[in-house]
Amino acid sequence: MNKERQLLKQIISKPSQGRLLLHVLALVLLPFVALIVYQSGGTQYAYLHAMYIPIALSAFLYGWKGGLLAGVLAGLILGPLMPVNVDTGQMQSFTNWFYRLLSFTSLGVMVGFLFDFLYKQYQSMQDQNTHNNDTGLPNFNFYKAKFNVEEKHSNRVAMTLQINNYEPLVILLGRESYYEVLKNLYENIKLILPPKAVIIQVDSRRFWIDLSHEDYEAMNTEFTKDLEDKTFYGEHVPLYLDFSLGFSLPSKPKITLERFNESDIAALHAKNNALKYVVFHQAHKKDQLLIKRLGELPLALKNEELFLVYQPLLDIKTKKTVGLEALIRWQYKDQILTPNEFIPLAEETRVIDQITEWVLKQLIEDYQDFSKVAPKIKMAMNISQRNLFDPSLIENMITEIKKHDMADKLEIEMTESTLMLNRAMTQSFLESFRHIGVKSILDDFGTGYSSLSCLRDLPVDKVKIDRDFTLNINKNHDTKLLVKAIVDLAHYMNLDVIAEGVEDEEILAELEELDCDYIQGFLFSMPLSRQEIIAYLKKNLT
Ligand code: C2E
Ligand code: MG
Ligand code: MG
Repeated sequence: MNKERQLLKQIISKPSQGRLLLHVLALVLLPFVALIVYQSGGTQYAYLHAMYIPIALSAFLYGWKGGLLAGVLAGLILGPLMPVNVDTGQMQSFTNWFYRLLSFTSLGVMVGFLFDFLYKQYQSMQDQNTHNNDTGLPNFNFYKAKFNVEEKHSNRVAMTLQINNYEPLVILLGRESYYEVLKNLYENIKLILPPKAVIIQVDSRRFWIDLSHEDYEAMNTEFTKDLEDKTFYGEHVPLYLDFSLGFSLPSKPKITLERFNESDIAALHAKNNALKYVVFHQAHKKDQLLIKRLGELPLALKNEELFLVYQPLLDIKTKKTVGLEALIRWQYKDQILTPNEFIPLAEETRVIDQITEWVLKQLIEDYQDFSKVAPKIKMAMNISQRNLFDPSLIENMITEIKKHDMADKLEIEMTESTLMLNRAMTQSFLESFRHIGVKSILDDFGTGYSSLSCLRDLPVDKVKIDRDFTLNINKNHDTKLLVKAIVDLAHYMNLDVIAEGVEDEEILAELEELDCDYIQGFLFSMPLSRQEIIAYLKKNLT
């Protein structure tokens, strides 16, 4: 914004003292200029031109009407009663003063129109700036224009309302109709919330609400329910609006953005945990930490902060180690993160493809060392659901496997939920691997809701019973029956059975009784580093 506009903005938007002064000035200047004209000797001198000032001022203050009135008044004051020459008493001719009256009036009207126009321009500029372009709803600039965002508050409540199913709604309705839903939602929140609450639209899926602590306390505790009970329509179709709420309650003094940052984090936490609302707590900062961590993940790959550990897989009859499962770890600053702490994050982005490619390369490299000690050892790696959607990744993996002649040494593990995501894609994915001789394992078997159809439809070679079953096998008779059923079923289908999570001798005995084929668990070994595995293999040669 240039300087003139800034100045205009200041004058227009500050009605208080400055503007009052202008009103007084406009009123006083009219008779004052008339007095000067008279005192200086009459209308023959140039002093009368000072009359433009109060006319322009009135036009500025009251628009064209003010300009018109001031023009007429000025024309009349300097009109028939004002002499041309006070000393000689010579009066003005009618044409003279009337012509001047007309000029003053038209000047007042024109300047008034000009200011009206400028003011409207300014107003629309202000509106554009303080309201969302698509919905016309107040935005953060609107908030900033009203409140000092740098001021620290310890008695206000910040609230975030986040729409979780934004993407499906936009796809279903198109943008324009989605914005109508947002407007509708805004009107409804306004009706439910205390009148003094300030509601602003932050982006296409979020509203921020600022209210005093008293208003918050007095607020209907059924707020969430009230909002849920409302039916929203888009294109005349009733919609399901999935939203979560986050609250930042008064604590130590904080500036506006800090408070809304907390309510955002709380809303995110609510969404991630399928809760309707969450009140911010310091522990929720973890969510923020996770997002930060995801940003650091690609760099971690480059900086070699990721590494693999291996957990041995044993033949239940001979108790010899026949395979190694690669499990990823991240050396994150001074702590080691387990996959559960970053793989789900990576799975939401394409970073997971880079990770899987990296795991394969690293595993092949490590295998070169392991195979010197245990030439028949099999290697297993885990694959994520996201990996199925990238055909180029599969091609790269197949090329890499063939290049290093790893097909008959490698097995891939996929969890049941992963396999269910897109049956056709999964099938072709597993077929391509089977085609080159890579075996596949159905990991965490029994945890999903479609275990049996997975077995029927997909070209898998082994099932790995989830550790939840294994760990409870001797504690719960039904679990034992289930494990027995899984083992028998797999054997009927000519599939090998692995049990993970074998932690003690009792569990082992049960699995032996049930005729399980392979075992893996802390009883035999924790996941070990590359060096430790070499030492382990030397001791436990196949
Ligand atoms: P998973 O494939 O089922 O791996 C077995 C998990 O069980 C491992 O946890 C392992 O440390 C743990 N475990 C092994 N023996 C026992 C035992 O006796 N008792 C108990 N309670 N736990 C045992 P980890 O390493 O934390 O891995 C967790 C999951 O992360 C894995 O489950 C796998 O689904 C995933 N994951 C690991 N590495 C990768 C990877 O490189 N890529 C992908 N996409 N996922 C991975
Ligand atoms: Mg696994
Ligand atoms: Mg598992």
